[in-house]
Amino acid sequence: MKRRIEADYDVVVCGGGAAGIGAAIGAAKAGARVCLAEKYGFLGGAATTSQVLAYCGLFQQGKEPVQAVGGVAQEVVEELRALGLDGKPYRSETTGNWIVLLDPEVLKFAFDRLVTRYGIDVVLHTRVAAATRTGRRLEAVTLAGMDGRRHVVAEAFVDASGDANLAMLGGETYRVGDYEGRLQALTLPIRIGGIAPDLRIDRQRLQEVIARYNEGGAYPIHRTDGGIIIRLPVSRDMWWMTVDLDIKDLTSESFTRAEMAGRAMAHEYVGLLKREMPGFEDAYLVATGPQVGIRETRHPQARLELTGAEVAAGRQSKEGIARAAWPVELHGEAGRPIYTSIGGDGYFHVPYDAIRAASLDNLWYGGRVIGADPEAYGSIRVMGTAFATGQAAGVAAADSVDGNQRIDIESVRSRLVEQGAIL
Ligand SMILES: Cc1cc2nc3c(=O)[nH]c(=O)nc-3n(C[C@H](O)[C@H](O)[C@H](O)COP(=O)(O)OP(=O)(O)OC[C@H]3O[C@@H](n4cnc5c(N)ncnc54)[C@H](O)[C@@H]3O)c2cc1C
Repeated sequence: MKRRIEADYDVVVCGGGAAGIGAAIGAAKAGARVCLAEKYGFLGGAATTSQVLAYCGLFQQGKEPVQAVGGVAQEVVEELRALGLDGKPYRSETTGNWIVLLDPEVLKFAFDRLVTRYGIDVVLHTRVAAATRTGRRLEAVTLAGMDGRRHVVAEAFVDASGDANLAMLGGETYRVGDYEGRLQALTLPIRIGGIAPDLRIDRQRLQEVIARYNEGGAYPIHRTDGGIIIRLPVSRDMWWMTVDLDIKDLTSESFTRAEMAGRAMAHEYVGLLKREMPGFEDAYLVATGPQVGIRETRHPQARLELTGAEVAAGRQSKEGIARAAWPVELHGEAGRPIYTSIGGDGYFHVPYDAIRAASLDNLWYGGRVIGADPEAYGSIRVMGTAFATGQAAGVAAADSVDGNQRIDIESVRSRLVEQGAIL
């Protein structure tokens, strides 16, 4: 690897969710010196910060689970298995999609082990707080942690923050929400304990309970079908996604209101189950996440924006750097998701330019910040796909450092295949 002597790292990755882990490991396996900065005290992104306890997008929709994402995601699943989680695909009864159910503590530990194995410099409790830009290049980031601020110079960068924080700090343009500024609804996933281990959910009863509650309850439940309610591995807690909240903007005031309202709803709904659902008499709220689940914030400008039409057609591309296989899932109205399946062979390619920043030549995107119109976004944002686009971003960043700032899609694709990615 050719590198500038004064650079602290070849690649700095902002954000340690699925995309950031994919990017950091992808870049490290390509030979780069990597720094991964994460603002929380653990890795995992929405899975561990917001109790989003199922990997979607690793398999295509259909009767049998056809794998769409390999590479780092596959290594993660194997690590989870080594730690006792079965990691098998499970067909959701409500959506018919294949998911892998998770346990947050096993996840956190698995990520610690993986990033350590690959020699990545991980800095937790550390936020990317500023960026230095010269012309079309990012030069450095300011990392703000417990011990103050430090300036870190690197050759290439990956924004895997979900919120486009690095792109925004680097002066890239962005849109908020869809083209009208509308944001997809928030959800506070909750875990419920104290339920008999062999209890099966009586969905019809649950729907009747919700219908009765909605006649006068303080927080009407939009998911009148009972929402996603699944038994989790390891803890055997029940995972319930029913606390849905609209959000109108990205202000602290709106998020504060949403966090507090979400908690009030979570306690109210668990109380309802305790009173009305057989088998829930001793139920209690085990956990909400450290933060509410945020589906959408900023979309930074990329060189290419994937469209809903390409997703619906299952468009494949010679410049594809990742497969995406999750149906378009839109949460325009809180609690009423709409799904549209992917056409063609059941997956589409994410083209290379969708992971490149529009106005910065050494910034790549991974995860939910890649270039996508509002419909395509409903598919690419899931964590299975985020591992794949993140890994591609990390490999592309490392490859450009190797090639003295060259952009070579074929080289990136072949390095991804060497790393086990499915293209
Ligand atoms: C309620 C809800 C339910 C969902 N259900 C599913 C599901 O069942 N399955 C699924 O696969 N997907 C689901 N999704 C979508 C999915 O969780 C996200 O789109 C996905 O996590 C995106 O991955 P990411 O790595 O891009 O971002 P994230 O998972 O958001 O990770 C970004 C990371 O960057 C960190 N970060 C942000 N800014 C900074 C900064 N300045 N400095 C340092 N660190 C920073 C954050 O702390 C975070 O850890 C759901 C989302 C929500 C909200």
